Amino acid sequence: MTTESELELVSLTKRYGDTLAVDAIDHRFPAGTYSCLLGPSGCGKSSTLRMIAGHETVSQGDIVLGSANITDLPPAKRGTAMMFQSYALFPHLSTADNVAFSLKMRGVAKAERLAKARELLALVDMADYAGRLPDQLSGGQQQRVALARALITSPSILLLDEPLSALDPFLRLRMRLELKRLQRELGISFIHVTHSQDEALALADGIIVMNAGRIEQAGTPQQVFDAPETEFVARFIGGHNVLQAEGGTIAVRADRIAIARESAAAHLEAVVRDVEYLGTTVNIALNAGNAGDITATLPDSIFFQQPIEIGETVFLSWNAADAHRLAA
Ligand code: ADP
Ligand code: MG
Repeated sequence: MTTESELELVSLTKRYGDTLAVDAIDHRFPAGTYSCLLGPSGCGKSSTLRMIAGHETVSQGDIVLGSANITDLPPAKRGTAMMFQSYALFPHLSTADNVAFSLKMRGVAKAERLAKARELLALVDMADYAGRLPDQLSGGQQQRVALARALITSPSILLLDEPLSALDPFLRLRMRLELKRLQRELGISFIHVTHSQDEALALADGIIVMNAGRIEQAGTPQQVFDAPETEFVARFIGGHNVLQAEGGTIAVRADRIAIARESAAAHLEAVVRDVEYLGTTVNIALNAGNAGDITATLPDSIFFQQPIEIGETVFLSWNAADAHRLAA
């Protein structure tokens, strides 16, 4: 269960007719890690996940799990499992029977599969609901049952496609913590598709940022957030300003920009367009002429020492180490 469950995508490609949905991507998912495929709608995340699950044929390339090439294996033979949205639960089956379903399909005896289902329900804190039907459960509870159902085959990789998107904001945060706890406890790999930067930053050991069927950047949340390599990543991950500097384009985090009323050591002069109070921070929208629009994020304590007014001219600076050059 260590090197066994490392997953490697080799030049993985998906075409639907003339549409190139996934364009020869290469990536290694280390065993026992939480990975997020992150990118805007249509960039190829679900196609990638479905190919890993075996729910979509591969146009070209390979999927290797441990020492096995699983590219052409049926879903149930891969060692992967997909968590489907909670609305895919069978409405006429009890919670326990829903969770035990795939073991039934594999011919596991009733007593054994129900015992295993109870174990999984306990893992997701749903032991007391084994006899309920799905429509007697809340949305969050259904989600847990869907998780237990996916985990019952003891996969070495759990695949999740936007698993939190149907939940209200409160439940989404709770389930997010729950997913991370489960992954840590089980020690298997989770590959989670999302278009939410916050979700990926909070959950992942590794983030794979996708754009138009390709991987723009892969790295730890800190690497991707702190040192974006391309303009796409800097803009998509948010919290950055993309600026034209001498010699090319740079990204500077909004919270790394200092605002002063004197011009000494300043990189840019700018006019304050807007001030947005967000509680712990304050966002200052600025116009820096040819350098474009810039956002600076200040801690509330700094802002209120000397509040900045709309229409003021100010001077912006940052440390050289905080300016990340972007690939052309
Ligand atoms: P994402 O999950 O990132 O939103 P998808 O993998 O679903 O992206 O889609 C990638 C591209 O492939 C999109 O252009 C989409 O329209 C196209 N696509 C996805 N599924 C199909 C399909 N079954 N048939 C044809 N085109 C598809
Ligand atoms: Mg999708």
